Amino acid sequence: MTLGGDHAGRLGVCAAPRCDRVYVDTSRNAGRQFCSTACQNRVKAATFRARQASDEP
Ligand SMILES: [Zn+2]
Repeated sequence: MTLGGDHAGRLGVCAAPRCDRVYVDTSRNAGRQFCSTACQNRVKAATFRARQASDEP
């Protein structure tokens, strides 16, 4: 069995903290990092908050 074929998609593990779900990345540019938009939004919000906090003196 070969992974990475044109129509196989790519397997990845969610990049969100405390989430280790595996997803199949079917996006064309393989830019997906999260199992769901819920995780994506959670990490995005956390990153935004962290950046703001570090920017403040
Ligand atoms: Zn996730």
